[in-house]
Amino acid sequence: MRETATQNVPPVAQGQYNTINSLTVDPAKATPMVAQFIEVKSQYPGIILFYRMGDFYETFFEDALITARVLEITLTGREAGQYGRIPMAGIPVKAAEAYLTKLLSQNFKVAICEQMEDPAQAKGLVKRQVVRVLSSGTVTEQSLLRPEENNFLAALTMKDKQQCGLAYCDITTGQFLVTELTYLELLSELDRIRPVEILVKGKKRRATSAQELDEFLPDIPADISDNYRCTPLGDDAFRASDTQFILMDLLKVKSLEGFGLPALPFALQAAGVIGYYISRNFLENTPVFNGIRNYSLQQTVTMNTTARRNLELLATVKNNQYEGSLLWVLNRTCTSMGTRLLRQWINQPLTNLNEIHSRLDGVEELVMSPAIRESIRHILPDIYDIERLSTKVANITAQPRDLIALKQSIARMPDLSNLLKPLETFYISRLQAFPPELFKVMALIDQAIDETPALNLKEGGIIRQGYHAELDQMRDLVRNHEIWLADYEAEQRERTGVKTLKVSFNSAFGYFIEVTRANSSAVPADYHRKQTLTNAERYTTDVLKNHEAQVLDAQSRQYELEYNLFIELRQKLLAYAPILADCAQRVAVLDVLQSLATVAVEQNYVRPKVDDSYEINLQQSRHPVVEKMLPLGRFVPNCVSLSSDYKEYKIPQMMIITGPNMAGKSTYMRQVALIVLMAQMGSFVPASYARIGLVDGIYTRVGAVDDLSSGQSTFMVEMNETAQILHGATQRSLVLLDEVGRGTSTYDGVSIAWAVSEYMANKIGCRTLFATHYHELNTLEQTNLKIANYRVCVTEANGEIEFLHTVEPGAAQKSYGIQVAKMAGIPGEVIQKAEALLTQMQKKELAVVEARRKEKAEETEAPQLSLF
Ligand code: ATP
Repeated sequence: MRETATQNVPPVAQGQYNTINSLTVDPAKATPMVAQFIEVKSQYPGIILFYRMGDFYETFFEDALITARVLEITLTGREAGQYGRIPMAGIPVKAAEAYLTKLLSQNFKVAICEQMEDPAQAKGLVKRQVVRVLSSGTVTEQSLLRPEENNFLAALTMKDKQQCGLAYCDITTGQFLVTELTYLELLSELDRIRPVEILVKGKKRRATSAQELDEFLPDIPADISDNYRCTPLGDDAFRASDTQFILMDLLKVKSLEGFGLPALPFALQAAGVIGYYISRNFLENTPVFNGIRNYSLQQTVTMNTTARRNLELLATVKNNQYEGSLLWVLNRTCTSMGTRLLRQWINQPLTNLNEIHSRLDGVEELVMSPAIRESIRHILPDIYDIERLSTKVANITAQPRDLIALKQSIARMPDLSNLLKPLETFYISRLQAFPPELFKVMALIDQAIDETPALNLKEGGIIRQGYHAELDQMRDLVRNHEIWLADYEAEQRERTGVKTLKVSFNSAFGYFIEVTRANSSAVPADYHRKQTLTNAERYTTDVLKNHEAQVLDAQSRQYELEYNLFIELRQKLLAYAPILADCAQRVAVLDVLQSLATVAVEQNYVRPKVDDSYEINLQQSRHPVVEKMLPLGRFVPNCVSLSSDYKEYKIPQMMIITGPNMAGKSTYMRQVALIVLMAQMGSFVPASYARIGLVDGIYTRVGAVDDLSSGQSTFMVEMNETAQILHGATQRSLVLLDEVGRGTSTYDGVSIAWAVSEYMANKIGCRTLFATHYHELNTLEQTNLKIANYRVCVTEANGEIEFLHTVEPGAAQKSYGIQVAKMAGIPGEVIQKAEALLTQMQKKELAVVEARRKEKAEETEAPQLSLF
């Protein structure tokens, strides 16, 4: 369901607050501060405004009602002139990140409005300005991101079902991609990319109550708005005439020609929407991108939405769990950037043979070099997420600890490069030369930043001793002052004769001399009382006050200098951002290759032969996930032989697979698709031999899930999916059909399944695996050479069946539905009745068939009609 900001919020009791919506407030009648708030707030409809007041971010009006509820913080009030006491809720600036996480996770957006001048020096009302708007797709804070997943922000433009534009980016890694596609392809792409936020066209909706935010509503089909977090934007964002300029600004280029965008108007417009959104969300420190990549869907294997889901690539269908997915089997990566890249490779198998071979070469080389592979696996965990760190360097937002992590990661790179020296394949050799500029980065950070720097940029403790002479001097001054304090304490003890006298500091009262009450009489006349405690008195002296002023001054100058030195270093590092990003990319590739090699060795996979033939020939193939879930050696391997080129190979193009429920039909079909996908992503595969003629698309029609939310019945969903396959598949595609026509009457169902099979075999010519309980389809083999029957074997003894899980040529004789029902624990009485009914029906059917056979013996009808 589409979430809106207000949906999650239970109503607030009005109580003692004047709960009016900020939109209805006339600034002229409010206090100056509230008037300023209204002025800013009106520019951010639908967004919660965090309004900085000293050490707090305050929220007012409807924002306060919402944040108080969602964040479970106290709702208070503030005088607002004629409007009386308006609702207010605040959070401490220091704890803001945790509260932001909570708001963003509930799909709220937050605008951060900062004080733009020092309140102590401001004349009149402090100037305030929004510096940043946070939403799921624009966060860069580490605690708000998932390390092993990209944080994609997407934008869509749609002219009609044939012409759509898609752009998506990850601000934390600098990726920015665009493409043009049909609406169906768009749905499949979104399912692959899984953006955390999608920018779409919207219609304005005004808040109707004090507890709601003024917002836009998405103006797009429910397929998208129901399944993704959409941010609707007004016409401004989609104004094509501004797009080029917004993007050139964002990418800091003079022309977009180099990205091949002007030829793709819808993609360009979608990219412009992202640019518009980013420029409004980042009012300072606009993120940097490594250009825009214009990609074509032809470069990767097309998968319909059901294929991606049913093949359980990244998560299981049942519980959306990682364990049990293909990623779970293939993931032996050691870095977060490696995991992110592996997800992309699984999600986007390639169609370019050279690229596939390059990846396979890399995996093979690592398979053949076990010692090197082990050493790589030893070094990689020491390398932090340099992809995101380098983006922070490019965005000049890296914190001191980020730089230390970067330095420590770079320090491991020379070892990695040396280790790879004996290897030769393309991807691996790219890491052999350690770029000398990285030594420079390491040295710059090492010289400047303390090994364990403070978290806060403005309280010192960042810069290393010896880096800057003036800073060292200031630090000495502060340190000497501490010695001075110790001396002063000793001197005052001697002077007063009070051995327990202490000279201390606290942030509220500054420096003080503490004397217990029992010794009050010994206090000299030049002590000025500062604070009274239960058992002690605190004093100060003119001398102490003077020193306090000196030390605080020196300290604040020291902090300021440290801050400035740090900012200077960040600027210096900016020049190295591209080389760091490149390096991160290479390490991520190495990590994925070693992960695939490690799995290949551990799971006994082979290198597939991928070529431009139309064949799929698998010997002793296994399902990578089911195999791993079963005890070792329990999975029964099977062979597959398919070809879309019957004339050349005399191998069938379509397998009609019959067999009882639970025999392993689905497992068998899915293993073929997964092996093809693994081969084309560059992985070894679970088989003793595999030849795969390039596949351009994997389509599945599997399972029957009611899509009630879209108001579609099981049968309608089934037919929609089948229609998509018949329109989308080509001679190079692989199609898995797990029952077609089950959701309707038997005759209708068989007829549809029959016609679909013939269309695929004769018209499309795609490689197809069709699992069915319609034994009638076995007749197709007799009339069509491209179609062959296969069955999953079982043995039967004393009414009990045993699943052998082997697939062999021929048609299954029986369905064994009743035996499977018995195994599932259906009561004996029901089973007996079912058996009796089955025998009765079979007898009747035989009689009917016999009668028909006689009737039609004289007729000369087409063979397929004889079925009925
Ligand atoms: P249905 O028609 O009810 O969907 P099915 O024939 O498609 O059933 P699967 O779901 O593929 O059957 O397999 C059922 C179970 O059998 C799997 O969960 C798995 O545990 C086991 N199985 C399948 N294939 C094999 C195999 N080749 N080796 C060992 N076990 C297998």
